[in-house]
Amino acid sequence: MSSSTEPVDDRAVVWFDIDNTLYSASCRISHAMGERIHAYFVSLGLSHEEASELHLRYYTQYGLALRGLTRHHDVDPLDFDRKCDGSLPLESMIQYDSSLRKLFEDIDRSKVRVWALTNAYRPHAERVLRILKLDDLIDGLVYCDYHVKNFSCKPEPEFYQMAMKQANISDPTKCYFVDDNRGNIDGARALGWARCVHFCEKGLEAMEGGRTKQISNERAPGAEERTDGVDVVATLEELRVIWPEIFKKQ
Ligand SMILES: [Mg+2]
Repeated sequence: MSSSTEPVDDRAVVWFDIDNTLYSASCRISHAMGERIHAYFVSLGLSHEEASELHLRYYTQYGLALRGLTRHHDVDPLDFDRKCDGSLPLESMIQYDSSLRKLFEDIDRSKVRVWALTNAYRPHAERVLRILKLDDLIDGLVYCDYHVKNFSCKPEPEFYQMAMKQANISDPTKCYFVDDNRGNIDGARALGWARCVHFCEKGLEAMEGGRTKQISNERAPGAEERTDGVDVVATLEELRVIWPEIFKKQ
């Protein structure tokens, strides 16, 4: 008889994206990131036009500009991280929001665990969580590991599978997930993550792949029809209504 079996934690997991989800796109951090990534392409000897074109192409093809840069330009991801995310003046761009902290405090930890799931590298993710004073309310963080060659990211199935492994959860129907990127939501839905919410600040702008776009809940042309079970919210407070079962009873 084995005595080494670890106790199973059968609580559900609530996964929160970080950027443009835990703070508003109106902070324009995606714009500041986009400008730095553009400057990084230019520093490789590309013209502004070539830089814009490649930035968009890599973002579209690989989900992150950096993944194209490491594949085709022999870029050191840690150098990229220092010059892009690492140089953002986040402390003056985002602010602690006591109502967001309260939302996290009101989640019933006897029922669920709370994890962050980001396409950024760890230092940036931890910095944002610290500024928002949420670091002590997050049980775990799944991030893009720049030390791993050809690391994966949302919305690739491998990334969600890795996340579930790290959180030691095998049942996708016990996964709650909120993200501002509709493609990331669809990726999770495709794996059976049951309770997905699209955080969508309609009317605001965000930058993706070096291009500014209006935020909307429209899905990419040709996206498979798997919208069932996806709620759209404009504030995270709405999660109290959509997921009442994960909050403490008042
Ligand atoms: Mg995001």
